[in-house]
Amino acid sequence: MHATLPLLEFTDFPPIQRGKLDTLQVNLGYLCNQQCVHCHVNAGPKRTEIMKRDTIDDIIKYLEASKITTLDLTGGAPELNPHFRDLVITARNMGICVIDRCNLTILEEPGQEGLAEFLAVHEVEITASLPCYLEENVNRQRGKGVFAASIRGLQRLNTLGYGRVNTDLKLNLVYNPQGPVLPPSQQSLQQDYKEHLMKNYGVVFNELFTITNMPIKRFGSMLISKGQFDSYMSLLRSSYNESNLSAVMCRNLISVDWQGFVYDCDFNQMLRLPLRKGAKPRTHIRDLINVDIEGLPVVVKDHCYGCTAGQGSSCGGAL
Ligand code: SF4
Ligand code: SF4
Repeated sequence: MHATLPLLEFTDFPPIQRGKLDTLQVNLGYLCNQQCVHCHVNAGPKRTEIMKRDTIDDIIKYLEASKITTLDLTGGAPELNPHFRDLVITARNMGICVIDRCNLTILEEPGQEGLAEFLAVHEVEITASLPCYLEENVNRQRGKGVFAASIRGLQRLNTLGYGRVNTDLKLNLVYNPQGPVLPPSQQSLQQDYKEHLMKNYGVVFNELFTITNMPIKRFGSMLISKGQFDSYMSLLRSSYNESNLSAVMCRNLISVDWQGFVYDCDFNQMLRLPLRKGAKPRTHIRDLINVDIEGLPVVVKDHCYGCTAGQGSSCGGAL
């Protein structure tokens, strides 16, 4: 894989300072039941990097001492971490909103019986990647049979009340473009998704989040291989929209890796650009307990143009 960081290092992206922190995004490890070709963390069934109990306990201590309102759990498949359910229950008992970044096929995995019901009982918000509403495109990107399993997962979640207007069980879907283009309008694509999934599969969901592809990791490497890296960066730069700068997710979120080290966002985590605080090369979540990081400068590089281009992009979709 081509390294992208050297191409992003020198930047004129405007400086950003942290605002009030409200979201803790935690990567519970790279173990996953799938092995998607585009996976940005190279997750798969054979990965052994997984958050251990003592780090989970650090996360819980941090939550207890902070004013975090949202815990956003990612992976790999976060549900495969043996401490996933305990962490969810603990956070929900603290009144914290928990988001599970669920790949949907995990709901059918042996050993995960009762997972959908568990998520519903604890009112966990589900954010699920469905890069297209067409079977062929999803299977090409995520593997044979993944689309059908994803639809079965969505139908099961709907049966439990997820995505329905009269419940608090939120089910959001995530779309990102297949190539080096900006996502289409979130509103109009959401409408297309809703119509297609309802008409063909009887599936309902709350919101569609469109996410801009970042010129890093696998996608960035693919751009370099195809000689498209510079033109994609030009597209992101020329689409810079200043009004998105105040809403980028690094203002109110920190991202924690499976070992407990902290980054300004998930993308910086992938680029191994740790949150900068003091002279230490990297900061562990346990070092931030009772520490206010408001006002701290964010580590920005050229990939940050991916967050501000066009309608803007974050892990919650357009800005
Ligand atoms: S489901 Fe997600 S985490 Fe798992 S391999 Fe696919 S992209 Fe990676
Ligand atoms: S890539 Fe990360 S650090 Fe850069 S603007 Fe986006 S959220 Fe902030």
